[in-house]
Amino acid sequence: MSERLVIMGPQGAGKGTQAARLAEHLGVPAISTGDIFRANIKGGTELGLLAQSYTSKGELVPDEVTNAMVRDRVGQDDAAGGFILDGYPRNAAQVVELDAILADLGTGLDHVVELTAERPELLARLRKRAEIEGREDDTEETIARRLDIYDEQTAPLTSAYAERGLLVRVDGIGQVDEVTDRVLAGLAAAD
Ligand code: AMP
Repeated sequence: MSERLVIMGPQGAGKGTQAARLAEHLGVPAISTGDIFRANIKGGTELGLLAQSYTSKGELVPDEVTNAMVRDRVGQDDAAGGFILDGYPRNAAQVVELDAILADLGTGLDHVVELTAERPELLARLRKRAEIEGREDDTEETIARRLDIYDEQTAPLTSAYAERGLLVRVDGIGQVDEVTDRVLAGLAAAD
């Protein structure tokens, strides 16, 4: 079974939920760059202060900051046997950096899971999450900005991973359990 995974998909596609479930199933940590930024913002760290000026507007945090954070996290002991990266890479430069980070660790990616969903469904889910969680970046304006950035910068990365034979595309619409089963079936078929 695959162990070094990236999970991609637009905001609202259920990446965080599925990453946590897969992590449990595979016995590896789920590493969410968004969660790490949010924890730092909450803790009032220097990294948090810097990140917040971008996350609050729905913009990407600069690559040098994000890349260094991921290099540090992926190199920690609990990730030695595998990990699920959620929310990284998000642009072409981050794809290059992730390859470099993993090459330095003497390893590479096994698969990239893409969760797909159309924008009306995503908007409905994100509006619901905004009501429940009250995330600072779940306002109408930032939601639209984040989905645009995903379409422009992140979605094109899946074709690069497909060319490398790493991509597993999964329909993200449905019950949480159903989607998890689809992901696991997709990974098993790709192995
Ligand atoms: P997420 O929870 O994955 O939607 O991330 C929340 C926010 O954190 C994003 O809107 C960005 O501002 C920032 N962020 C998360 N991951 C990255 C990344 N790979 N590169 C740059 N910024 C990121």
